[in-house]
Amino acid sequence: MLTTWWQNRLFGAGYRLTAPREIVIDILIETDNHLSVEDIYVKALKINPSIGLATVYRTLDLFAQIGIAQKFDFGDGKARYELTDNPKKDHHHHLICIRCKAIIDYSDFMKEELRLMDKTQAALSQKHQFKIMHHTIHFYGICEKCRKSH
Ligand SMILES: [Zn+2]
Ligand SMILES: [Zn+2]
Ligand SMILES: [Zn+2]
Repeated sequence: MLTTWWQNRLFGAGYRLTAPREIVIDILIETDNHLSVEDIYVKALKINPSIGLATVYRTLDLFAQIGIAQKFDFGDGKARYELTDNPKKDHHHHLICIRCKAIIDYSDFMKEELRLMDKTQAALSQKHQFKIMHHTIHFYGICEKCRKSH
């Protein structure tokens, strides 16, 4: 059987594939949003009514720890999660509004941006003899809507 990148990461870190882990992964693959623990819990309940909130918490914690998911933490106890690499979604960067906590995905990169990423990655790999596998880019600020309401 073909294993996926996230299974490799899970097994590689010494963990098994349990039913709750599979449910949480499926939810993360199928969504276009950055979901909170509660969002994921509500969806998980529809798949398996016996799943517990604590299990969902632990599962997401584990996924963030071993790099299966990235965690967006606003320090308000409402962390949001997204798969590190979702086969159903284009590689994207994030604009994160610190006021309304909106997370904007964009993948319509500017030419300057692509050139900068390529150059930076090449130079970093060279300088540190480091093989770069992937990257995440987050820009923090105030979104258009929030700027207009002030
Ligand atoms: Zn990128
Ligand atoms: Zn905003
Ligand atoms: Zn995203």
